[in-house]
Amino acid sequence: APSALPPEPPAAGDGVALTVVVPMPAHGGLDARLSYRHPHALPAGTLVRVPLGRRTVLGVVWPEAPDGAAPAREALRPVQEVLSALPPLPDEWCALVAFAARYYQRSVGEVALAALPPALRALDAAGLQRRLARLPGAGVAAPAAPAPPLTPDQQAAVQAIAAADRPVLLFGATGSGKTEVYLQAAAQVLQRDAQAQVLMLVPEINLTPQLEARVRARFGAAVVTLHSGLTPAQRLRHWLAAHLGQARVVLGTRTAVWASLPRLRLIVVDEEHDPSYKSQEGARHSARDLAVVRAHRLAAHGCRVVLGSATPSLESWHAAQQGRYRLVELPDRIGGAARPVLRLLDLRQQPRGALLAPALLEAIQARVARGEQALLLLNRRGYAPVLACADCGWTSGCPHCSAHLVFHKAERALRCHHCGHAAPVPRACPECGNVDLVPLGRGTQRLEEHLEQALADLRRPDGTPVRIGRLDADTARTPQALQQRLAEVHRGDVDVLVGTQMVAKGHDFRRITLVAAVNPDGALFASDWRAPERLFALLLQAGGRAGRDAAFMAAQGSRAELWVQTAYPQHPLFAALARHDYPGFAAQQLEERRAAGMPPFAHQALLRAEARTLEAALAWLRLAAAQADGLPGRAHVTLYAPVPMTMVRLAGVERAQLLLESARRPALQALLAAWTPRLHALRGASAARGLLRWAIDVDPLGY
Ligand code: ADP
Ligand code: ZN
Ligand code: ZN
Repeated sequence: APSALPPEPPAAGDGVALTVVVPMPAHGGLDARLSYRHPHALPAGTLVRVPLGRRTVLGVVWPEAPDGAAPAREALRPVQEVLSALPPLPDEWCALVAFAARYYQRSVGEVALAALPPALRALDAAGLQRRLARLPGAGVAAPAAPAPPLTPDQQAAVQAIAAADRPVLLFGATGSGKTEVYLQAAAQVLQRDAQAQVLMLVPEINLTPQLEARVRARFGAAVVTLHSGLTPAQRLRHWLAAHLGQARVVLGTRTAVWASLPRLRLIVVDEEHDPSYKSQEGARHSARDLAVVRAHRLAAHGCRVVLGSATPSLESWHAAQQGRYRLVELPDRIGGAARPVLRLLDLRQQPRGALLAPALLEAIQARVARGEQALLLLNRRGYAPVLACADCGWTSGCPHCSAHLVFHKAERALRCHHCGHAAPVPRACPECGNVDLVPLGRGTQRLEEHLEQALADLRRPDGTPVRIGRLDADTARTPQALQQRLAEVHRGDVDVLVGTQMVAKGHDFRRITLVAAVNPDGALFASDWRAPERLFALLLQAGGRAGRDAAFMAAQGSRAELWVQTAYPQHPLFAALARHDYPGFAAQQLEERRAAGMPPFAHQALLRAEARTLEAALAWLRLAAAQADGLPGRAHVTLYAPVPMTMVRLAGVERAQLLLESARRPALQALLAAWTPRLHALRGASAARGLLRWAIDVDPLGY
C-alpha cells in the first residue's frame, strides 16, 4: 500500500525528484506517472500544476519514488505551482485510485484526474482562496426533522450495520424502512465521532428528490450533493467541502464514490442493483464495487458499507449466500400496506395486434371512472432484438449457450453475442412454420394514441375528460421537466400515466392502484442474459407503485394489481413475481448461471474496438486475441470469437467486441495486466489501420 512518506529525501542544491500523475492514457510505454523536479519534497496527494508537452496540467504527487529509469534530476522539468492552500488528498484516496487503475486497466493519471472535479483543473491560487471562503456544509445542524422510533427489525438492522465485520446487504421490500435505517445508522456514526463522514450513493438523484429532502431534513447544513447535474462551480465547492471535512454527509451518484473524504466511516449504496452504478465511459468502473473496496480498506478505522435493495443484484445476493456479505432483512412493509396481486394476460389468446388486451383496457377504465390512477409501463430499454414467433412462442436461442441470438437486420443474420455463433435468419418458424417472424418488443410507439382513442368517451368522477400523461426521456429532458411531470401525477391531473423504466423508481404515488407492464417479453428473452434479472427487479419495483396508501385503498374498496401482458405466462419469473419471492427467483437464476458458467460464477471482460469498417474492427480484435497467447493466466481464460456489436454502426463508426471469460478472477486480471501493454503496442500493426479506438471493459454489464 502506498505510504505518505516523501518520495525522496531532499537533496542539496538541485532539489528532489517527485512522481506526479498527469491526465493521460497509458500508451507507448508511458504510464502517466512522470517525474518532475521541485526544491523540496512534497507529501503524497499534493495537487500541483506541471508542464506536459506545451500545456500546463493539473497533477497529483504520487506516493511512489521515481523509477530508476527516470532521467537525472537536473534534466527534469520543474513543478510550476503547488496548490498549497489545499491539504493533500488522503492516502486512502490515492490507494483507491491506484486499485481502480489496476483493476480496470487504465493509467493511474487517467483515473486520478477523472476522479477530481473538472473545475479544479482551471483553478488558480486566488480562485481557490475565494471559494474556500464560501463553502457549504460547515458543521452539523441539529436535526430539523426528528427521527421516528425504529421498529424492532430496523433497530436490529442498525445494530447489525454497526457491528458488521463485512459488507451488509440490506434486503427489504420497497417501503420496508430501508432509508430510515440508512439515516439512523448515519446519525449514529456522526454522533460518535465529531469529524466522521458518511457517503450515501444513489443511482439517479433527479428521480428521487424525496430522498434528498429527507437526508437534508435530518442532517441539515452538513449535507452536500455530488452529481453531474451540478454546475462545475457547485461541484467544486461541494467537493472541497467534503475534502476539507466540513461536509459530514455526501449524497451523490456514482461519481461521488471518488469524493475525497478524510474521515469516511460509513458508505451506503441505495438500490445497489441499479445498472447506473456502472460507468459506461472512462475506466468503466462500478461505483458499487469500488464502495465495497473502499470500505474494506478503511475497515480498521471502523468504516462500514451497506448495500440496500428490494431486488439485490445476483452478484451481491450470491456473496451474501456465501457469507462474504452479511444478509440483513426487513421483511415487512411499514404501515401494513398490501402488496399488489399479479394478473397475467396471455397474449396468445388476445385479438391479433391488440396493444392492450380488452380485459386490461376495461380494468383501466373502471379504475379511472372511480377516481383512481393507472400506470402503464413500457419497456424501451435498448435490448438487442431477438427473433420470436407470435404463434407458438419459439425464440431464437443459441445452440451453444444459454444466450439468445441477436437479430442483425443489415446482414439478415442471427448472432450469439456470447460465443459468436452465427446463422441466417430463418424464412419461417422452425417449430410451427409461421412465416411472420418479428423481433420481440416492437410496435408500442402507438400505445399513447391508442389509449387516447380508447378512453376518449370516458369521464372522471367529476365529469371531466380523462387525461393521459407520458413520462420518458423525451418528456423529461431536464430535471425541471421531470419534476413537473411527476407533480402532475401527484396532484391528480393525470389519470393514466404511460412511461418507461423511470416511472418505476422509488416514487411515492398515493392514488395509483393499477400498474400494467405492456410489453415485457423483449426483456424476457433478450440476448443480454442479465435481462430477466433486470425485468424481475423492474416489475417488482413498478408493482410497488400501486396501492401504497392503505387508507386510500380502504376508502375506495380497491385492490392493488400488477397486470402483465405476455406470450409466456408459464415463465418461472412470473410465478416468483406472483409470490413476491425474490429469494426463489434468485435461486433459480443462480442455478442457471452456475450451470452455464456465467457471472457471478465466471468473471468477464470485453475488448471493444471501433473502426471505419467492420472488417478493420474484427481484424484488429483477432490480432489482439493472438497477442494473448502464452501470457500469464491465459490457460484459465476463454477468449471468444470477435462479434459485431448489436448497434454495429453508430455515427459512421463500426463497432465490434471480444469477450474474455474465466472462472478465476485473478487469472483474468493477470492476463489483462500483461495483455494491455501489448495492445497499446499494436498501434503500428497493419491490422490497426482504420482502427479508431479500443477499450477494455472489466465486469461489463451488457453486451
Ligand atoms: P424504503 O427505503 O425501504 O422504501 P422508507 O425508509 O422510505 O422505506 O420507509 C417507508 C415509509 O415509512 C416512509 O414514509 C418512512 O418515513 C416511513 N417509516 C420508515 N420507518 C419508520 C418508522 N420506524 N416509524 C414510522 N414510519 C417509518
Ligand atoms: Zn412458431
Ligand atoms: Zn452462443
